[in-house]
Amino acid sequence: MRVGFIGLGNMGAPMAANLVKAGHRVAGFDVTGQMPAGVTPADSAAAAARGADVVITMLPNGAILRAVAAEVIPAMRRGAVFCDCSTVDVDSARAVADQAEAAGLSALDAPVSGGVGGAAAGTLTFMVGGPDAAFARVLPLFDIMGQKAVHCGGAGAGQAAKICNNMILGATMIVTCEAFALADKLGLDRARMFDVVSTSSGYSWSMNAYCPAPGVGPQSPADNGYRPGFAAELMLKDLRLSQQAAESVDADTPLGALAAELYRRFVEEEDGRGRDFSAMLPRFEGRGRG
Ligand code: NAD
Repeated sequence: MRVGFIGLGNMGAPMAANLVKAGHRVAGFDVTGQMPAGVTPADSAAAAARGADVVITMLPNGAILRAVAAEVIPAMRRGAVFCDCSTVDVDSARAVADQAEAAGLSALDAPVSGGVGGAAAGTLTFMVGGPDAAFARVLPLFDIMGQKAVHCGGAGAGQAAKICNNMILGATMIVTCEAFALADKLGLDRARMFDVVSTSSGYSWSMNAYCPAPGVGPQSPADNGYRPGFAAELMLKDLRLSQQAAESVDADTPLGALAAELYRRFVEEEDGRGRDFSAMLPRFEGRGRG
């Protein structure tokens, strides 16, 4: 396939490199000019998109996605698929899909989980919203860049799945960390706490697969001085998107709102920026109730 790839940062560069390795022709554009080996550099986003069967974007936010889509969609050939893999707000995903459809194209919102490691290893999970035919068209590319692609529904459904998942993850990580800090103060050994909770009804991905306590459970960023992993500021971004979405549809999400506020404080007022999101545990360790 001919692929246009726009946004070749931490995630986009290894994703594009995997498509090249699998034999696809990839033209790339990034405002910084960075280009992974094997990707043909284009002068502009529109130039990367011209003649492509699929255009993939991997950009920082919804405002940038909207600007790039406005430039790229008119340059794409009819029948091509615009596939955004960034994490953005549901409204931007739907607006871009409408614009693509009006131009005789189809669009997918296909945010990912799995992080930079998953992008490099080709083991991302794609959560995809958009028409069946477009999903089927892009599936061979998802299969190269990832290990699983779930077709979640119509336009915006991929972003909806992503922010709901990450709202659960953020809140669960916080409560796992506060429970460890409480257990410490109650004199409960962390390894015993892990043994019990990881096989009891308190188990979760945060506890079992990504344990925030160093030296306990499987290897995780906690064992590496809380170097990310998944940085606290990226969790804050996703929690803000979930709150924005909740407001737009009048959904009551009190724990999601509190998780967003705690990560905001952690990133903006405490020492959370640049640390893994599980570094909430040392945050709670050092605090009392006041
Ligand atoms: P990044 O900042 O490393 O990459 C974004 C790239 O987009 C940059 O290289 C930037 O120069 C480029 N860019 C910005 N404006 C542009 C424009 N107008 N035209 C062309 N290129 C432009 O970010 P990232 O970590 O690669 O994340 C990308 C997206 O993936 C984000 O939406 C993020 O939320 C999501 N995501 C990231 C992770 C992660 O662990 N890093 C995990 C899951 C999802």
